[in-house]
Amino acid sequence: MKVKTLEELAKQGALNGKRVFIRADMNVPRDAEGNVTNDFRLRESVPAVKIALDGGAAVMVCSHLGRPKEGELTGEDSLRKVAETFGKLLGHEIRFEEKWLDGVDIKPGEVVVLENCRGNVGEKKNDPELAKKMAKLCDVYVNDAFGTAHRAQATTEGLAHAAKVACAGPLLAKEIEALTASLSEAKHPLCAIVGGSKVSTKLTILKNLAPKVETLIVGGGIANTFLLAVGKKIGKSVAEPDLIDECKKVMDIMREKGGNLPLPVDVVVAHHIGYDAGFRICDIDDIDGDEMILDIGPKTSLILDGYIRAAKTIIWNGPVGVFELDNFKEGTRAIANAVAEATGNGAFSIVGGGDTIAAAKVFGVDDKVSYISTGGGAFLEFMEGKVLPAIAALEARYEK
Ligand code: ADP
Ligand code: MG
Repeated sequence: MKVKTLEELAKQGALNGKRVFIRADMNVPRDAEGNVTNDFRLRESVPAVKIALDGGAAVMVCSHLGRPKEGELTGEDSLRKVAETFGKLLGHEIRFEEKWLDGVDIKPGEVVVLENCRGNVGEKKNDPELAKKMAKLCDVYVNDAFGTAHRAQATTEGLAHAAKVACAGPLLAKEIEALTASLSEAKHPLCAIVGGSKVSTKLTILKNLAPKVETLIVGGGIANTFLLAVGKKIGKSVAEPDLIDECKKVMDIMREKGGNLPLPVDVVVAHHIGYDAGFRICDIDDIDGDEMILDIGPKTSLILDGYIRAAKTIIWNGPVGVFELDNFKEGTRAIANAVAEATGNGAFSIVGGGDTIAAAKVFGVDDKVSYISTGGGAFLEFMEGKVLPAIAALEARYEK
């Protein structure tokens, strides 16, 4: 994936005196009064604006907030308060512009935050007329919002085609680099860990990754359906029997190419999911009818550790057990540690998915892996093999 970047343009002096329109992701959680309760995305949005300012540009920052009805923005949907918080984090004066589609009065060195772009009629449908109108506002369009890269909307896709110059901001550029290193330009052996509760939510990922990886580790409820597919008795574990055939197809892909798809040989079982659940560790052939698998056992952890350490690239999405509960967290901890140690030994690792990132933090490896993807839906769609329209648009503009 080759795209022009804001940093390159800044180095070439191509931002000096220019009007730069940055599509950021300032969709932050807020309390009932509209105050920002987690400013992570705002802090992440600062570098793009700084690069543009340092490059001598007049900077417009645009974002969506929530899912308002187009043409009917209410006070609740307004980015105003978010913009104020952003200004403080940026350490630079900002102006908030409610009506901006017909023109923004701005000089180099100034920063204007634009009202919620999802208030504009045609944003969601990617109306080309709306994109053209926005293109007139700027000399350079910057997309720095990976979280919306899987959506073709006017500020994420249409504008990337319509603007005079289109490039990726530092956040998006980092994501693109990490995603490229994890798949299309991955060093092999490549090991993917796909866990979570349901095969149905990860089936497309399993099918897309199976042909590309040497090792496919399935975990959590997903592994349970694979266990059913090989005839194991899994008691009342979470599983999707109607997807057994799909699991068999994935196993066939791995078998035919001589790849690895290791299944648990021992597990942690309990009668219910809960803090108070008594548990035991047992061999995979020793599960009682009224028990459920809630984590992998220590022998399995050790086997998986070996596969993970042998990899030069690791993709991790999905915990291998109910790691939220103390009794069932050791398997996911072992995976987290193996990924961190493999990374320390030179492997490239990428971690994505809401619960997986939470797990990486709980086990203190979030700063020991190569990259934590910030875009939940966009990360999963990329791993499903789907084209991310916002990135495709920037790629199409690369030579132009
Ligand atoms: P992500 O958000 O990283 O993509 P998922 O949402 O697919 O991950 O899966 C996370 C959930 O899977 C966790 O809440 C975890 O408790 C659950 N899970 C893991 N293993 C099991 C299991 N054996 N049985 C039931 N649920 C499980
Ligand atoms: Mg989840």
